[in-house]
Amino acid sequence: MHEPDCDVVIVGGGHNGLVAAAYLAKAGKSVRILEANSEIGGATTSVRAFPDFDAHLSRYSYLVSLLPDAIIEDLGLDFECISRDVSSYTPYRRNGVEDGLLVSRLWDKATEESFRKLDPSGREAASWQEFYGLIAEFAQRIAPTLLRPLMTRSELRDLVGLPDTWEFMIEKPIGEVIQRYFNDDLVQGVVLTDALIGTFASAFDLQANICFLYHLMGNGTGEWKVPKGGMGKLVSELERVVREAGVSIELNSRVTSISSNASGAQVKTSAGEEIKAKYVLSNVAPQTLAKLRGLPAPESLEGSQMKINILLKQLPVLKSGIDPHIAFAGTFHANESFAQFESVFASAKNGEMPHVMPLEMYCHTLTDPSILSQELQDKGFQTLTLFGLHTPAKLFDSDNDAAREVGLQSALASLNEYLVEPIEDLIAGIEVKTPLDIEAAIGLPRGNIFHRDLHFPFREDGTEPSWGVETDDPRIFICGAGAIRGGGVSGIPGHNAAMAVLSKQLD
Ligand SMILES: Cc1cc2nc3c(=O)[nH]c(=O)nc-3n(C[C@H](O)[C@H](O)[C@H](O)COP(=O)(O)OP(=O)(O)OC[C@H]3O[C@@H](n4cnc5c(N)ncnc54)[C@H](O)[C@@H]3O)c2cc1C
Repeated sequence: MHEPDCDVVIVGGGHNGLVAAAYLAKAGKSVRILEANSEIGGATTSVRAFPDFDAHLSRYSYLVSLLPDAIIEDLGLDFECISRDVSSYTPYRRNGVEDGLLVSRLWDKATEESFRKLDPSGREAASWQEFYGLIAEFAQRIAPTLLRPLMTRSELRDLVGLPDTWEFMIEKPIGEVIQRYFNDDLVQGVVLTDALIGTFASAFDLQANICFLYHLMGNGTGEWKVPKGGMGKLVSELERVVREAGVSIELNSRVTSISSNASGAQVKTSAGEEIKAKYVLSNVAPQTLAKLRGLPAPESLEGSQMKINILLKQLPVLKSGIDPHIAFAGTFHANESFAQFESVFASAKNGEMPHVMPLEMYCHTLTDPSILSQELQDKGFQTLTLFGLHTPAKLFDSDNDAAREVGLQSALASLNEYLVEPIEDLIAGIEVKTPLDIEAAIGLPRGNIFHRDLHFPFREDGTEPSWGVETDDPRIFICGAGAIRGGGVSGIPGHNAAMAVLSKQLD
């Protein structure tokens, strides 16, 4: 390899590529980011989705939990995430009466009473507190390890030191555990949701455990917060920091191949440019990286969600009578009972779009109205972010447009079950993203929001020491969601890939 053009080339300008670039540039390395699109940010952008309205919605990812405070501090990001007082609201109809399960972020009287209406024996409420108490302790012990080299399974199990919780979080299917702790199908489903976001799996598949863990370990609390200013604020802050550190960001630069030899690595772009570097960091999915290297792509689950962004003229009224400012302030679950999840999973596996889509939803503007112009705020406009589950990419393969419409109707019907008037009457703007739309826009293979299947945050006993970002080529690292401990808005694989490179002799 001839003289390198820079120390490190980063393929893809998602938030993880930007985090990696920031750590490397601050350590004095020369870095170039090549981004295929005309904008950086990948799955963490905010956009003015509806040209007639001055509203900037988080187009793909929308809540933050996994981004360690340490990364925000290290990089000096002016980026704030806001806590929500309400954790979740789940409407239900029993014995002809409309009601709902309200769970506050901190256990309080309203939560206690809400559980008691569902289960006067008090058993579900007690189980809830015990279950999440155990998980909180578990999460606190795992979170600090995420920015260090991977521990082995045995090392992490010993460090955590909670053998019973380890057993039910890591070794036994989470579906069995949830059914052991909770009796009520609706409560079971609220708990199970965190195991299935972006993961097309049965409750009894260990892949669901991994997803569950990622949804409950962020910053040691598992709390999902609202990014102030929208998800795009994270990207604009990262861009500021990397530019100040001297990183070159090259837009509309699609990488078409990656190769290496003993002395360095080389990438080629669709414009015919060849760039040599000491190392290449891949912010693209491992499946895409394999193709760029001329290798067979690793197997992975496909994406299985519909993302629907809505601008509302006003919040809808609920049949249960709860104030919508409370119901939509946290995560709103519709048709996500345990039994519904299992049955929809089975039918989607057989190629059927859910008739009543299990979905979760939240209203960004109740916590942070700053994404709307003052005029829209004054008029009472709000946003709704709807995430529909168990809609795998294969359901869209034969006719994406037609399936998108069927999926949308299923999602709206699912929500309308609990509203006094149909949501359609209140919509000022709506955009719908299927897994195939997401793949076409930002390159997530088959729309998998985590790039590929999530991994447990440890390496198996007897394997080589690692940061979870290495490939079989010592010049090429993964700095994106597809790394071990990647997935979600976290910056963790970006940080870890930078540390892996910095721990090497750059020659
Ligand atoms: C609909 C949706 C909702 C989500 N919700 C949440 C959420 O609320 N909270 C959360 O924590 N996570 C969420 N996620 C997951 C999270 O957003 C992603 O896992 C994470 O943002 C991935 O970041 P990344 O930087 O690793 O990669 P990406 O954001 O995927 O960035 C990769 C970049 O590489 C570029 N690229 C691709 N191919 C090439 C090429 N050949 N050459 C050059 N550049 C290329 C892409 O254009 C893209 O900009 C969601 C994801 C989606 C899609």
